[in-house]
Amino acid sequence: MTTTTREQAGKSKDVIKKDGKTFFEFTDRITAFDGMKKDEYPDKGEVCCRLSTYWFEILEKEGIPTHFRAFVPPNVMEVEYLEIIPVEVIWRNFVAGSLLKRYESGEKPLVGIEPRLGARIPEGICEFTTKFEATDRLIDEQEVLDNRWLTREELDMIKESTRRVNNVMSAHLLEKGIILADFKIEFGKNLAGKILLADEVGTPDGCRFWDAGSYDEGRIESLDKDVYRYEKGDLSDAYATIMRRICG
Ligand code: UDP
Repeated sequence: MTTTTREQAGKSKDVIKKDGKTFFEFTDRITAFDGMKKDEYPDKGEVCCRLSTYWFEILEKEGIPTHFRAFVPPNVMEVEYLEIIPVEVIWRNFVAGSLLKRYESGEKPLVGIEPRLGARIPEGICEFTTKFEATDRLIDEQEVLDNRWLTREELDMIKESTRRVNNVMSAHLLEKGIILADFKIEFGKNLAGKILLADEVGTPDGCRFWDAGSYDEGRIESLDKDVYRYEKGDLSDAYATIMRRICG
């Protein structure tokens, strides 16, 4: 007898368990501002699934272990079952999003970096937010350790993996005239206790992509979910364009 179960994983994906295997179905759902804004856009799930597949394959070749097992066209991915670590990892190369809001609310989050959308953060920074709270909350490394979500060694390993994911994706994207301004990734532990890159990676849902030519001319042209967040154009068109530019 075969059994199939489906549950919602995060806001835009469903997890399907079938015959002892685990699958992610990338849906057309999109949400922003902690779920306050939500919609569906045709082909959005397929774009994010294809892009995640593209990047997982590249990252695996670069020696970064991931939960990716197989692409099941058009919008499903077989993955290794993981227990998700309850921390979202954010890497930033440029000032945008919630970092800019922190500047605007009077904080001085980074020393020596201009409080301006698009200011470059020369060495990049790695930040952590909670995953399973109603709204994402910025946490420091000590809170991650105090909650026993990660050991010091695991935390350092995750930071180093995130830096490598950034280096690999940024270099590939620059060749295609795209700046990787920031991104969010997640990690999980497999049954053997090994930490793997999880969830999705390198999609316009989880990254800020900026057109490099426009940036050089002093404009920010978003090729990602900011098109939806700030109603800068049609999301299906924007996502189809970024997929073509990245995957060819
Ligand atoms: N991000 C994400 N999921 C989240 C929060 C952030 O994928 O729940 C991504 C977001 O798209 C951006 C990066 O992480 O590429 C940094 O997001 P930020 O903290 O600036 O928050 P935002 O204002 O974008 O929600």
